[in-house]
Amino acid sequence: MSNKTSRDSENNAKFRDVYVHTDGMPWIPDPFSKGIWFKVLRTSAETGAWTVLFKCEKGSAFARHQHLGAGEYFMLSGKTEVRGGVQNGGITACAGDYGYEPSGVIHDSTCFVEDSMFLFTNYGPLKFIDDDDNTLFVVDWLTVRAIEAQGLANLAPAAAAAE
Ligand code: ZN
Repeated sequence: MSNKTSRDSENNAKFRDVYVHTDGMPWIPDPFSKGIWFKVLRTSAETGAWTVLFKCEKGSAFARHQHLGAGEYFMLSGKTEVRGGVQNGGITACAGDYGYEPSGVIHDSTCFVEDSMFLFTNYGPLKFIDDDDNTLFVVDWLTVRAIEAQGLANLAPAAAAAE
């Protein structure tokens, strides 16, 4: 081994890369949002951040929620309207668009007006709230992993039956 190779190897033994082949992962239905599926790419026990790939059917929507950690997304395909879309003073995000959502921001219904896919990272939990801002439930990285585990367990018998 060259000096550089052994140095790099020694250095990188202290770290752990995360590399995810999303094509080989099943889409898991989001139990809170009809017509929305996701794949968990990474969660962090240190920071509480979680990164997922979302696939949303035309007409699907996320319910009203408040970000308890900032979020950011990159639209891969389709179109989404936040706060009624740009024609109502909100945001319309299309393929190729990037968005940043500060911690504390409240999103009323976020609607997908086309079949859409986007990469999303939230640096903390999401708090789903009703129209009077009462807390309905909180989704943190542990919840994301629990939903993933339940979704995979539900998919396993279906896959076995199809064989
Ligand atoms: Zn949001």
